[in-house]
Amino acid sequence: MSELLNVDLAVARIVSDIRPVESENISIYDALGRVLANDIDAPLDLPIFANSSMDGYAVVSTDVEGASDVNPITLPVVMDIPAGYAPKTALKPGQAARIMTGAPIPQGADAVIPVENTDAHWGEAATNHQVVRVFQSVNPGANIRLPGEDVTKGQRIFTKGWVLRPQDIGMLAALGCAELSVYRRPKVAVLSSGDELVSIHDPLTPGKIRDSNSFILSNLVRQYGGEVFNFPIARDTKDSIRAMFDAAVAKKPDMIVTSAGVSVGAADLIKQLLSQMGKVDFWRINIRPGKPLAYGQLAGIPFFGLPGNPVSAMVTFDVFVRPALMKMIGRNSDVPIRQAKLKESVKSDGRRTYMRVKLEYNDDGELWASTTGTQSSGALMSMVLADGLLILPENITKTQIGDVFPVRLLKEV
Ligand code: AMP
Ligand code: MG
Repeated sequence: MSELLNVDLAVARIVSDIRPVESENISIYDALGRVLANDIDAPLDLPIFANSSMDGYAVVSTDVEGASDVNPITLPVVMDIPAGYAPKTALKPGQAARIMTGAPIPQGADAVIPVENTDAHWGEAATNHQVVRVFQSVNPGANIRLPGEDVTKGQRIFTKGWVLRPQDIGMLAALGCAELSVYRRPKVAVLSSGDELVSIHDPLTPGKIRDSNSFILSNLVRQYGGEVFNFPIARDTKDSIRAMFDAAVAKKPDMIVTSAGVSVGAADLIKQLLSQMGKVDFWRINIRPGKPLAYGQLAGIPFFGLPGNPVSAMVTFDVFVRPALMKMIGRNSDVPIRQAKLKESVKSDGRRTYMRVKLEYNDDGELWASTTGTQSSGALMSMVLADGLLILPENITKTQIGDVFPVRLLKEV
């Protein structure tokens, strides 16, 4: 096994080659899933002004001291403050102001009595009420949201590399950030080759299969924030593959990802041509599935020659291409990992093995993993059923039921 390159070393070598892409400015309307290219500090306080957290009456808290059901305190209602309008005057001691949730607290008031704790029944004619009877005392500050209580001006809200989710974009809207600096989407050329492959729209004639890898790989790229260029399937000839490489390079992508044609068979044309037209850095890795993986450069562009079997292509994308894409867009490349107990004994050949597993918690809250049927690297269903990839470390050839291994989650469990 000594001639095989260790997985972590291979990832480290790939990642050290990769340079981040430039940033671009985008509208907040297009921000979902984008990665911030700079830190963002709050330009203002949130809330911006003191406001009521309840529908009720703004008062001076000392005016309602001792108020109760049996001892209501009556106050004149001197103004009406709807949400969205600044109070015109200050509140004087002995007065109340009808106030809506989110409306600014008038000067002079220091608490809000919720409408439920008064005799008011807000209907159509509520604004005509001249007085209100208050049934409860309040502490100073009650039901008032203070400026800066949520976010203070100058506070670091997001760090560079943050991936924007709906709530983050809401925060940016509240802060008034209409335009954002994000990493440009990396452009990835996804290539397929093989005489047996037909595209999704072509008829299946004897001996042919559909090209599924380009769909898996293209959508993995999109899932991680990249933009995809697809090309017609190349045939198993040097000319056809050379033409496909030229077409890919002409698009000036940030990365080229192929599948198939890297094994040791007679038709390992991808690897041969990469070494002629560009350079191969390494291609035999201590991993299962996916040992043959050509990594190098074509016209200076990072090039991944993934194995052809769909499961191998997907696993090697996850292990090798994903960290490269993450580095390109300034993102942390950590993946969610859980420890799980194996529900069955499994065998391996001593390479680091990524097994497709289903995960389930037992009644004691322990997480158990069972393989998703055949682990053949051509069996797409093993991947469709998988909640995760259980990682058997190098040099483990046999396991017992109950042995604990890390699982890279492909789905939240
Ligand atoms: P190869 O590396 O060319 O020997 O391919 C290994 C296996 O992967 C073969 O069974 C191929 O038919 C299959 N394969 C290669 N490319 C694709 C693809 N794009 N979609 C689905 N299966 C593929
Ligand atoms: Mg082939």
